[in-house]
Amino acid sequence: MRVAAGDVAGILCLVSVAAALDFKYHHAEELEAYLKGVHAAYPSFTHLHSIGRSVEGRDLWVLVLGRFPTHHKIGIPEFKYVANMHGDETVGREMLLHLIDFLVTSYRRDPVITRLLNNTRIHIMPTMNPDGFEATKVPDCYYTPGRYNKNGEDLNRNFPDAFENNNASIQPETQAVMDWIKNETFVLSANLHGGALVASYTFDNGNSVTGSLKGYSRSLDDDVFIHLAKTYSFNHASMYKGTGCDNRQTFPEGITNGYSWYQLEGGMQDYNYIWGQCFEITLELSCCKYPPANQLEKFWRDNKAALIEYIKQVHLGVKGQVTGKNGTPIPNAIVEAKGRAHVCPYRTNQHGEYFLLLLPGTYVINATVPGFKSMLKTVEIPDNTGNFSALKQDFSFPEVSIKPEAPSCPKIPLYQEFERASAAVKPTLHILALMTVMLVIFK
Ligand SMILES: [Zn+2]
Repeated sequence: MRVAAGDVAGILCLVSVAAALDFKYHHAEELEAYLKGVHAAYPSFTHLHSIGRSVEGRDLWVLVLGRFPTHHKIGIPEFKYVANMHGDETVGREMLLHLIDFLVTSYRRDPVITRLLNNTRIHIMPTMNPDGFEATKVPDCYYTPGRYNKNGEDLNRNFPDAFENNNASIQPETQAVMDWIKNETFVLSANLHGGALVASYTFDNGNSVTGSLKGYSRSLDDDVFIHLAKTYSFNHASMYKGTGCDNRQTFPEGITNGYSWYQLEGGMQDYNYIWGQCFEITLELSCCKYPPANQLEKFWRDNKAALIEYIKQVHLGVKGQVTGKNGTPIPNAIVEAKGRAHVCPYRTNQHGEYFLLLLPGTYVINATVPGFKSMLKTVEIPDNTGNFSALKQDFSFPEVSIKPEAPSCPKIPLYQEFERASAAVKPTLHILALMTVMLVIFK
């Protein structure tokens, strides 16, 4: 095993880095110093960058970990954790710092963490709302204005919405995350909050097309989302018990559909799923939004295994490349599992790659190069998360020499059109109507 010079230095100052990460709250300067210290100690498998700035000019730091931390490698899925988008929900912020500490000190020592980092690129953003955190001078379990960004906007109501027009003006923190999502091929994500103890999954908003009349807004990937939420709740020390907080709502098995809990517009998890091709769930980690620092060590013990097991789920399903003449990668090809066509079709990235999160089973995967016929392949998907690689299935179109243009999937309420169309047709024509609407929207 080759050990880079920087890592030798890293091992030497390991003690000081580890000692620097106490179980306490880290304010902006300390957080920045910690992340820079980690990168300096472990330069060969970490990459630190800022994806933008908050309203008050604070950097939105992201630490990337993996065997190739600075760039995407074909076949290696991208994963992300984002915390503290509500500035006064603080546990996630510290959990992600401790996760970083655990990952860097376990790499090349713990065989599971080593395989995880060799086969996954992990992006960690401890705070999306650094201004709100700094503005929260007096910790409170229930509510403070630090929830919002400096402009008083709720960042988890600030994204384009698939069900209704979101009139909120997009904030710098939101725009930075939207650009980040656009620039990376994220496959799986979680968004860490506080104020409850539950794993909540998409959709947060809905209409009659997704079943909102029955009080549950269901995506076509509902089975996958339930699995993802349960992966967290059952690997958490107590979330799976579903007892909730105090006398507030209880959640069977520690999970809930977002809409069933309460409807919201402009949330980040729905945005990731619709426009980011990334499955995201929302993790509520603490009944008290801003608990005393002396509870952080217990929160870390309660969440550590769940945080790791959740990352492994990025290797569910199937992945591969779509290539054309002479094996040239085809970007923007549509690759979907039959019966699970996304409202904004999932497309290959610039390397012709696709990643589809699917539970073990038999599926028909449909690859379409716009302007050419589709190719169908039946795949048998095993549970591959323990192998740190999804099933591989490539598609070859040797007659294709074009590179389709990047299509625009408009940031409008895509499901409104579905609702109008479905209200007008018989149930048997439902799917046909949906497909027609899609053509109208996307061509
Ligand atoms: Zn929150």
